Amino acid sequence: MSTFRLEIVTPEHKVYEKDVNMVVVKGVSGELGIMPNHIPLVTPLKVAPVKAKIGNDNEFIAVHGGFMEVRKDKVVILAEAAELGNDIDVSRARLAKERAERRLAQKQADMNAQRAELALRRAIARLETVDDMK
Ligand code: ATP
Repeated sequence: MSTFRLEIVTPEHKVYEKDVNMVVVKGVSGELGIMPNHIPLVTPLKVAPVKAKIGNDNEFIAVHGGFMEVRKDKVVILAEAAELGNDIDVSRARLAKERAERRLAQKQADMNAQRAELALRRAIARLETVDDMK
């Protein structure tokens, strides 16, 4: 089975770098499965789990937005933050989710609603990534 190099990079570090058979991402206009020799493209990503297929194994990475660039020789995902499924602290994500939900429930017409919404989405993506690993 042929492979291509997948890199997931944040401003702080390279989170993932492996030869994979396929990567499945949530683009802003829907799910995209990228196989070797895909035509080059750039797409913004949703805050969501990314699935990398290697043989019969699936690996999951929480990717918080950013872009995917499909190049001739590799696929690069650039995001503000990303975590390997195994590195996700589930209780931290649960607490972050509850905190964001509490803030949103207060329904104050304040500027922080959008911030809470984004924090909620990140926490949900982390919890979904851990669930996908099961
Ligand atoms: P929190 O409120 O718990 O800090 P957050 O969504 O505000 O969550 P971010 O600003 O997205 O956190 O991330 C800050 C740093 O912490 C990043 O390096 C990110 O990868 C890491 N991080 C955040 N939440 C978790 C988690 N639940 N498990 C592992 N790493 C996390």
